[in-house]
Amino acid sequence: MGLMIEGILSKYFTVYTQKEVLEKYSIDYGYLSPILSSLRKIPKALIKIRNEEELKTLMDLVNEYNFPIIPRGNGTNTLGETIPIKDDSVIVDTTEFKGFENKGTYIITKPGTEFNDIGIENLPVVPTSFNIATIGGYVAGGSLGFGSLRYGAVWDNVREVTVYTPRGRYTLKGSNVYSVVQAAGTTGIISEIKINALRRPRKVSVARRSFNSLKEAIDKALELIDSAEFISIRNKAMASVIEPYYSWGNWNLIYGINEPDLDTSIPLKEIVTTFAGAYFTVVNKTKVNYASMDITLDELEKLEGIKCLIDAELAKSRNKYFSHTYFLNYTYLPNLNSSKFDLHSFRVNDRVEDDRLKKMISFKKLVDPEDLLNPGKLVTDS
Ligand SMILES: Cc1cc2nc3c(=O)[nH]c(=O)nc-3n(C[C@H](O)[C@H](O)[C@H](O)COP(=O)(O)OP(=O)(O)OC[C@H]3O[C@@H](n4cnc5c(N)ncnc54)[C@H](O)[C@@H]3O)c2cc1C
Repeated sequence: MGLMIEGILSKYFTVYTQKEVLEKYSIDYGYLSPILSSLRKIPKALIKIRNEEELKTLMDLVNEYNFPIIPRGNGTNTLGETIPIKDDSVIVDTTEFKGFENKGTYIITKPGTEFNDIGIENLPVVPTSFNIATIGGYVAGGSLGFGSLRYGAVWDNVREVTVYTPRGRYTLKGSNVYSVVQAAGTTGIISEIKINALRRPRKVSVARRSFNSLKEAIDKALELIDSAEFISIRNKAMASVIEPYYSWGNWNLIYGINEPDLDTSIPLKEIVTTFAGAYFTVVNKTKVNYASMDITLDELEKLEGIKCLIDAELAKSRNKYFSHTYFLNYTYLPNLNSSKFDLHSFRVNDRVEDDRLKKMISFKKLVDPEDLLNPGKLVTDS
């Protein structure tokens, strides 16, 4: 069957099958996790789509010939979301499917557009990988980012999303976007996104405060929570690895406030230490083990005394504050009433809350019952 698919695709697309190309597209930033990188299979072929017509042609072929495809942006996700785990996958590169329009209060964009094309000052939430990621990859695979404390998660800001699936084209609105956002391309290839827009100052002032106890740091964070642009709480070990040139206390707050004229203000583009940015940079440098948990703010104080590097990034999702928390070089994790966010699992099921997951699964059953879109990543029979 393999050869046949390449032959069929080559009638409509340039098909890349060179060994080096397939090697490169078999891995993403999930290489960080030995568990994820050990699962990868070499894909059958790579194609690139540039517009809706090509996407429609591709989906007609998938529907007719039943071959697995994996949509891909720049491959900067750290969760193995674009790593093929089934044989004979075709990688579908969307990075040349570009273009956007800024309408003031919202932006309409194609998936391959990059953050620097749109300008990060125009978007409510951006990943700290904004220099290297596509907006389609972020909407399909991302969760939080710079801006999440004030404006919520990616799924809070996507107003509409259009996807192509083996069963046709769908435009989803309101809470129906949950079927696609963070579903890792398992429920359709995104052709268009309508996302909230705003205009923020190009600079933000960053402050650093040290405390003896975690409780003091949390109390100060709660004081700032409604006015800050971002808040990170880091213990000494974590803060010292990320910014070695400061002298840190037991617990530290690093936060941004919207006062662009202060001496401490720096361009937005230099704020790259939050969310995945911090853990990725530190783990890449130190090769230690890592995990993350989403913890409610009233449980956060229980992290006092745990011996490892801790980074608590405060965020909001669907109007609730919580801490997206990273643990590096740990021997045990606290037993808290937290929600799952497994950094070593390729399964969407291991990082999405139940109600959003339900929406993904029921849409998946409708549009892709054969599991051809990023197969194996969304488990529907749990
Ligand atoms: C240094 C660093 C910092 C990061 N910071 C953050 C952060 O702050 N917040 C955060 O959430 N993440 C962060 N990430 C991970 C993040 O999810 C990605 O950087 C980004 O969202 C992925 O964009 P990409 O274009 O590389 O997508 P890829 O990695 O190529 O793809 C991501 C997922 O989207 C799917 N996909 C891609 N394009 C489409 C499409 N057109 N239609 C359907 N599905 C598609 C893929 O199949 C995959 O499942 C960070 C990563 C790094 C390395």
